Amino acid sequence: METTSSDTYITRTPTSRSMYKRAVSVLPSGVTHDTRFLQPHPIYVDRAQGPRKWDIDGNEYVDYFGGHGALMLGHNHPSIVEAIQHQLERGTHYGASHELELEWAELIVKMVPCAEKVRFTGSGTEATMLALRIARAYTERQTILRFDSHFHGWHDQVAFGSPPANSPNDLPSGIAEGMAAHIVLCPPNDMDTAERLLDNGNIAAVIFEPTGATFGRVPTANGVPEKLRELTQRNGTLLIFDEVISGFRVARGGAQEVYGITPDLAVMAKSMAGGFSGGAVVGRVDVMDMLTMKDAHWNATKRIPHQGTFNANPISAAAGLAQLKIINEGDVIETANKSGERLRELLNDTSVEEGSSAVVYGTFSGFHVYYNRENEITLNAISDGTVPFHVLKDGMPTSLVHGFRTCMLAEGVDLIPWPGGVISASHTDAELERTATAFKQALKQLEKAAVLA
Ligand code: PMP
Repeated sequence: METTSSDTYITRTPTSRSMYKRAVSVLPSGVTHDTRFLQPHPIYVDRAQGPRKWDIDGNEYVDYFGGHGALMLGHNHPSIVEAIQHQLERGTHYGASHELELEWAELIVKMVPCAEKVRFTGSGTEATMLALRIARAYTERQTILRFDSHFHGWHDQVAFGSPPANSPNDLPSGIAEGMAAHIVLCPPNDMDTAERLLDNGNIAAVIFEPTGATFGRVPTANGVPEKLRELTQRNGTLLIFDEVISGFRVARGGAQEVYGITPDLAVMAKSMAGGFSGGAVVGRVDVMDMLTMKDAHWNATKRIPHQGTFNANPISAAAGLAQLKIINEGDVIETANKSGERLRELLNDTSVEEGSSAVVYGTFSGFHVYYNRENEITLNAISDGTVPFHVLKDGMPTSLVHGFRTCMLAEGVDLIPWPGGVISASHTDAELERTATAFKQALKQLEKAAVLA
């Protein structure tokens, strides 16, 4: 019988397999993040450097997980390692203010157009949760408008309306029914519906991923940020950009700099914290004022309480500040964006050469693979915005994604299961070409699997 990529993957990863057997008895599904789940077992990573990582069986991978998007400079950039080591010896948690948090906030204010003030959080999820609370308090309105399939973390207000649950009537298990009462969902890019909801709705805030759902899996159509700015201003609604992925990645000042649209608030994380945990809400001074301590009456009736043990902890601050300085002063964003363009081009050329109809799309330093089983979409149709959003949102069938990912792993490439990934400034032509070679093999397997499916 013919060997499949799945067989090759299993043969190459015996130690990961035995670790996974241990893991399932102490970790639900053996993992610590849904996205890291892979059957029959995920890889267990031993070490990483630059754009590559090695599993405990010694296999080398080109890494497109990139610390879930946090590693704009790749793994272990020497300046970040030095900053962390220096800080480790001086203390990891003071339970007090420190100079690094100040420098970190000052640099964020300098880089991000809408950032007049900064409040640090422990993660992107915490930051979107805080941003929504600030918006409700500031506007004294209840309802938030979100876009279907845009991702804002896993807390209760945002964990529906994106896969796997698609509507407020289809809430994931564990989320209280009432949670949907103050959230309205709009199809992405549908500005007629957004206009109707905003004009009628007494909406506190609109939150969206400015480069499109899941870093452009459903890309933002031309004119959408401008239209949302106009509609929110007209209705006294706050505009929140979720720049958790796009911030300090697509441009120094994030997507808001690229579009030339300044939101009222923005949510940052990932690249901001240099590979450590951390996030922030940034924005207009009068809106951020909802966090400010004033007189007893204001504090008791208006002010938002906000805590968080690991907010701006010295290690995250050291790593984040080191990474942001390099992003601000160097050309890493341009390098990563150029590599993104080159990788998408290489993979699309490979697809054409193989006679496959798979397409690879994306913007900036991201890429998404869409397996075109019915030849239903073209790259032009994606960039023109004429593909119905649910086609891109649904993407490849899960069984094909699984086969594709294990094949790419067997060929030495680790992808995010969008499927696709994020590119760092440390990826070179050698990694991109190796990815194209792996992709060629994966396409052959995909064609076979699709015929059988
Ligand atoms: N918003 C967006 C756009 C994200 O991509 C993510 C994480 N993938 C989050 C929010 C949540 O961030 P975190 O994982 O740090 O909680």
